[in-house]
Amino acid sequence: MRRRRRRAAMPAARPPRAAPGWRGRATRAEIDLDALTGNVAALRAVLPPQAALMAVVKANAYGHGAVTIAREALAAGAARLAVATVGEGRALRAAGIAAPVLVLGAIDPTEAAEAIRQQLELTVGTEELLEAVADAACRAEAEQPVAIHVKVDTGLHRYGAKPALALALARRAAANPLLRLAGISSHFATADEPDVSFAAEQAIVLAACAEALRAEGITPETVHAGNSAGSLRRLFTGATVIRPGIALYGIPPSDAVPLPPGVRPVMTVRSRIERVFDLKPGDTVGYGRTYRCERTERALLVPIGYADGYARALSNRGWVGFAGQRAEIIGRVSMDQCVVRAPESVAARVGDEITVFGGAPEEAAPSARGLADLLGTIPYEVLTGVAIRVPRVYVRHGEIVAAEDLNGLTS
Ligand SMILES: *Cc1c(COP(=O)(O)O)cnc(C)c1O
Repeated sequence: MRRRRRRAAMPAARPPRAAPGWRGRATRAEIDLDALTGNVAALRAVLPPQAALMAVVKANAYGHGAVTIAREALAAGAARLAVATVGEGRALRAAGIAAPVLVLGAIDPTEAAEAIRQQLELTVGTEELLEAVADAACRAEAEQPVAIHVKVDTGLHRYGAKPALALALARRAAANPLLRLAGISSHFATADEPDVSFAAEQAIVLAACAEALRAEGITPETVHAGNSAGSLRRLFTGATVIRPGIALYGIPPSDAVPLPPGVRPVMTVRSRIERVFDLKPGDTVGYGRTYRCERTERALLVPIGYADGYARALSNRGWVGFAGQRAEIIGRVSMDQCVVRAPESVAARVGDEITVFGGAPEEAAPSARGLADLLGTIPYEVLTGVAIRVPRVYVRHGEIVAAEDLNGLTS
């Protein structure tokens, strides 16, 4: 609030600019490492101090670039990492990251040997997978027991074992010297909704499972259930690990779950104008001629398209920020490019900066959330949808400190 009032009092302040000096493909995702570091600190400040922070970096850290984000999150105070697949875990290990890495979902039994080689912690919710992992552990003659997190299906009805089976799996993991019961876990169905009564029921089931094991003398090393929403709302008070994803990236899980003060978005997608041209009444723009000019207007070509993750559904609906104003998309978004209408009375030149989404409010671009609303989806899909051909440009204290070419196609 204070910032907003100060801004309003200083209308002449120059809008924040893109990090200077980016040389490379015009369309890029700028990743604000100060924001990430601040978000980790701000989340830890409001979360139970005894709970270790497991930074969820699946899906390339929600599109931000897994390796850099993992390193930064660990440096900022995260103790653990989580991914969705064995391949994602391998990429972290290949970069020299030694922190505990949990694979959150089921793996295929044929991946067990590789997962063990990479020293990944595994989530197990079926007998078949527990057996496959135990067999692979036996064959691997690994030096340390393989860390198993037994996943309890407490009502999400996705991956996990019903409580009775989960207890049996936990007993077997605890009794097998090749395995380690590193955790029992669950996942909420409604953590980000206004009504959390079902989540409360789920938490009771998980707590009862942990208690039943303890009564048998089996103590899982960790118990965890909370994603960003569940952790921020403290839906499971017995948590010794929390698993935030979206909040780390500065996006609220939903309207029902505000973020703590100081948390801000990490990613801004920017581009530059490639061509400036005039349209006259009757001219049409793009494939299918879906936009027809009614008066003379100036058009700007932006080199971003649906293959960059900029959805074609934004055709004639979306907008970008240019010179502090909205520039609306005219015609269809094509694979690699789209055209926007220049705001009136703004001079536009080739090479001028465009904010596609994110950035400061003064940049007038939609937020990830705003773009998601336009598309009828959630910001998770907008962030993870930014294609790997878009370079990730890492910025600290306003300076570019690294650029990551995620698949070698960006330059
Ligand atoms: C993705 C995921 C998370 C993180 O969820 P956010 O809503 O992004 O915080 C936590 N736990 C599990 C099991 C997940 O799959």
